[in-house]
Amino acid sequence: MAKRLQAQRLDGIDYSPRVEFVQLAGEEADVVNLGQGFPDFSPPEFAVEAFQHAVSGDFMLNQYTKAFGYPPLTKILASFFGKLLGQEIDPLKNVLVTVGAHGALFTAFQALVDEGDEVIIIEPFFDCYEPMTLMAGGRPVFVSLKPSPTQKGEPDSSSNWQLDPTELASKFTSRTKAFILNTPNNPLGKVFSKEELELVASLCQQHDVVCISDEVYQWMVFDGFQHISIASLPGMWERTLTIGSAGKTFSVTGWKVGWVLGPDSLMKHLRTVHQNSIYHCATQGQAAVAQSFEREQLHFGRPSSYFVQLPQYIQRCRDHMIQSLQSMGFRPVTPQGSYFLITDISDFKNKMPDLPGAADEPYDRRFVKWMIKNKDESTLRAMDQKLQKWKAELTP
Ligand code: PMP
Repeated sequence: MAKRLQAQRLDGIDYSPRVEFVQLAGEEADVVNLGQGFPDFSPPEFAVEAFQHAVSGDFMLNQYTKAFGYPPLTKILASFFGKLLGQEIDPLKNVLVTVGAHGALFTAFQALVDEGDEVIIIEPFFDCYEPMTLMAGGRPVFVSLKPSPTQKGEPDSSSNWQLDPTELASKFTSRTKAFILNTPNNPLGKVFSKEELELVASLCQQHDVVCISDEVYQWMVFDGFQHISIASLPGMWERTLTIGSAGKTFSVTGWKVGWVLGPDSLMKHLRTVHQNSIYHCATQGQAAVAQSFEREQLHFGRPSSYFVQLPQYIQRCRDHMIQSLQSMGFRPVTPQGSYFLITDISDFKNKMPDLPGAADEPYDRRFVKWMIKNKDESTLRAMDQKLQKWKAELTP
């Protein structure tokens, strides 16, 4: 065809590192892909039973339900999160069930971001925020979390990474439409403190900005840290969309059930996008999530609650991973939440600066590709020897 095929809104967003790496890892049979956040363990029994019940019980669960959410699910989400956010939540006006949190984000960006609107995104960020902003015609404006120096030999922690208040304030302009918050954050694992959230809240209020708060990892918080929803701070409910994911909540990422909570003044625009795009997501998955939340509501705060057990388990996995990385000579940043962990590879880079790849390709990307490609036993052994040698050299 002679005509230009792709819509202009796709310009510059065709590359996705996640898609590339998942594909690369898939091509290499015995590569363990730790990059995409999903559990390698079974979901809790009560969730599996809820799904089985949804599939084999009421035959009407095979049919369409209400476009904006299966009523028992919108009802339990309203009552469960209403208590946490200190809000009277109306299941019909303040809740929208979407195809995963991804669907919630897409619906929110499409509903609110216009041509030329600025969207503030905190770096490092979950990779879809930038293309979703661009696809809606918006302009991403980045502000970085920066690590404060640690004592020599002391491990780094995600809570050491902070926003500079002056720099943050300078990013807000009359064109700023939305601020994207992600706590606990992917990929750093940072859990934003009350003071940090108060700063964001006051800037959003001062500049009349909507906060899109991605809180999919809210139950995965470690070391006694506490997750705080920005919508629960004074004056923030009116301007915040709070996004959650059943996939992360009940370790069922394949079910793809997510939700958005917010004031009707914002939600009505999300409903317009939803009814004119996907319209509705699978009824049985929604029924299973509703039943799982009903179970959790009964156990909330007790040792039997999945929201108590899940972070304990993930924290043990985190500690194991940190030890493994440290034993290889890397310097991981201890996350306070989420499935993720980043590690400083600069010592490795100093020793092996010339990994294959294009000169302008960032070193970390080249490093991951090299790890994926070079996993045959002899290469691994060679790498192990190299690392041991390098480690020995580093030891005084
Ligand atoms: N937000 C963040 C921060 C995520 O890490 C993910 C998944 N990796 C999502 C949203 C998407 O969640 P879901 O699987 O429910 O679409």
